Amino acid sequence: LRIHLTDLLDQNDNKTGTIITLTDLTELRRLEKVRQEFVANVSHELRTPLTSIIGYLETLVDDSDEISDELQDKFLKIIKNEADRLYLLVNDLLQLSKIEGESLDLKKGDLIAVLDNTFQRLQDKALEAKIKLVPDYPEELPEVKMIPEQIEQVIYNLVDNAIKYTPEDGEVIIRSSLSDNGEYVTVEVEDTGIGISRNDQKRIFERFYRVDKARSREKGGTGIGLSIVKHIVQNHGSNIEIESQPGKGSLFRFKLEIA
Ligand code: ADP
Repeated sequence: LRIHLTDLLDQNDNKTGTIITLTDLTELRRLEKVRQEFVANVSHELRTPLTSIIGYLETLVDDSDEISDELQDKFLKIIKNEADRLYLLVNDLLQLSKIEGESLDLKKGDLIAVLDNTFQRLQDKALEAKIKLVPDYPEELPEVKMIPEQIEQVIYNLVDNAIKYTPEDGEVIIRSSLSDNGEYVTVEVEDTGIGISRNDQKRIFERFYRVDKARSREKGGTGIGLSIVKHIVQNHGSNIEIESQPGKGSLFRFKLEIA
């Protein structure tokens, strides 16, 4: 709490009273702390791949005579991977800062087209991971209020995660249906994957939060995907719900209003 005193004076500069202003700094301090943590996290996340890139480059430049062609190739591949990671991370961060607190002008849109697109874009990845990607939605649905590109990004991120965190021979279902009262459409992405504990469920929407950093990194994750999902869904006036049991699988759900 900040206390500020101002004297009240009359025409002859005699003190006639005092104004006491009390300012609650708790929220300001909290926001400042969140901002500081974010900057520290970003710096750390950017520095890790950069340190690796610089290290391998130095070896290639300084000891080029002593390194076999095979090893050179290996180093170059690592450098390329790390640079790709940096690129993805910067893209995700830019996108997150763009959508945070954005107020949207929602238009009528065709959700089936968005669902079909996402299915097609991720079909190969699922096949490669030996996961059955199952579309489970009707051929027609009423139009909903949305920004189609953003909702596609949400469903893409959810399905991409479902594939990443589901072992071979598992199943990922993209489901959608009209609510009983006909007021909204529900979208669900369900997997038979590793699941998420109750404690982690509370935190996975935070930026950079990953249950298992090594695993997420190995799968090419940045820890930003679900923060983007949460913000877009909230900007569409909805909430993201999650049901999950470790070892069994996870289900993510959100609703869109009929246009
Ligand atoms: P990442 O880029 O690491 O996937 P996200 O923000 O998309 O970042 O997800 C945050 C974390 O939530 C992931 O690192 C993972 O631990 C967990 N997670 C997300 N989706 C799933 C899922 N379908 N099954 C199990 N864990 C998941």
